[in-house]
Amino acid sequence: MRFDVITIFPGLIRGYLHEGVLGRAEGRGIIRVETWNPRDFSQLPHQRVDDRPFGGGPGMVMMAPPLLACISAARAANPGAPVGYLSPQGKPLRQNDLQNMAGRPGLILLAGRYEGIDERVMGAVDEEWSVGDYVLAGGELPALVLIEGVSRLLPGFLGHPGSAEEDSFSSSGLLDCQHYTRPERWNDEVVPDVLLSGDHRRIARWRHQQALLRTRTRRPDLWAGRILTREEEILLQEADMAEGKY
Ligand code: SAM
Repeated sequence: MRFDVITIFPGLIRGYLHEGVLGRAEGRGIIRVETWNPRDFSQLPHQRVDDRPFGGGPGMVMMAPPLLACISAARAANPGAPVGYLSPQGKPLRQNDLQNMAGRPGLILLAGRYEGIDERVMGAVDEEWSVGDYVLAGGELPALVLIEGVSRLLPGFLGHPGSAEEDSFSSSGLLDCQHYTRPERWNDEVVPDVLLSGDHRRIARWRHQQALLRTRTRRPDLWAGRILTREEEILLQEADMAEGKY
């Protein structure tokens, strides 16, 4: 899958790709990431891309002409890819959004800076995505969040293809269960017996139960309106009885 990132700091994107799983995925041809610098499309002295806001006020605004020229060039290089602007005012990014994006041929991501972009650029933007209700200095980290989240869903990215399905917010809509590894005992804390039993059916049942309990406790927003299967009701009753809630 091809990602084109429009940014005045291409080094931030390339630097992150230099190491780790994304860099490996790029090396293996699973993803391709290109950057486009609006400064290269500026007609102004010193390749200027920002100016003061009309109406006054603090900060600078990214100008429309270089951004629109940059978007056109990226669209020509990645035909059919939608343009997504990373913005705190966008749709909050969720796992199922990443899943939908992973089915597309490519994505063009616009990273803003300063006070944001001239509103007239929005006519060339197809989608607006937020990584959360807080404000960062630029869209580069959000773009990388999106690229990494989508990339790990692409075939061949993860060593074990099923592992993404067990993740929080994935097919079950639950948080993932807790995990343990060696040593079996650490500072008087032990691994739950069931995980050492070798009984795969019991282990799967326990994991499902823990995922239900975690989601109910930690994320009432995800839990609200969830329709439980009969099996899930039984798992919760068993856990609540063990806790002495009945
Ligand atoms: N004045 C803007 C506002 O309040 O909505 C914030 C501008 S922010 C300082 C500069 C850039 O960072 C934005 O154009 C956007 O690309 C990026 N950014 C900041 N927070 C973000 C978030 N939560 N999600 C996605 N992008 C974000």
